[in-house]
Amino acid sequence: GEFNQKIDYVFKLVLIGDAAVGKSQLLARFARNEFSVDSKATIGVEFQTRTLAINEKTIKAQIWDTAGQERYRAVTSAYYRGAVGAMLIYDITKRQSFDHVARWLEELRSHADRNIVIMLIGNKSDLGSLRAVPTEDAKEFAQRENLFFMETSALEATNVENAFQTGLTEIYGNV
Ligand code: GDP
Repeated sequence: GEFNQKIDYVFKLVLIGDAAVGKSQLLARFARNEFSVDSKATIGVEFQTRTLAINEKTIKAQIWDTAGQERYRAVTSAYYRGAVGAMLIYDITKRQSFDHVARWLEELRSHADRNIVIMLIGNKSDLGSLRAVPTEDAKEFAQRENLFFMETSALEATNVENAFQTGLTEIYGNV
């Protein structure tokens, strides 16, 4: 358990991307292994933590959710401050959420530390029949922009652990 554990590092990660792509549910899945079907839009600043082992170190991941601020294009520089990792999330069934990724990336790069580790995440991979973004398109974009890329499902818990572990391992490699 997390009781009495010696923490080697605290890493701040931020979640960004359009409203309703699944940021809150990805966080709930990673931090508490939960998913709630009737998740309401989160209001107010919010982060959750999970302590885990990466390369035999005890890492406390402090993961921030935009808490609905993205609806008002009001994600502030305070949100990005100190972040060593970012999950840039789109919804594989919503083309627009992928088209906005470049804009999010620009905002991220203008606010965040130069060395920030960025993961491009195509969420809702369980909705394959409604797919609007080909995996190849996202893969190419990620390669061009030097981002890690993965498709996830917060609902089915597919690749969520893998995505965060990959990001945290890369961040750990940077310290
Ligand atoms: P946020 O606004 O980006 O934080 O998005 P939410 O986490 O609130 O999710 C928006 C909606 O998408 C909710 O109705 C969720 O239940 C749903 N959702 C989130 N992740 C997934 C997923 O992986 N698969 C499916 N099918 N639905 C999801």
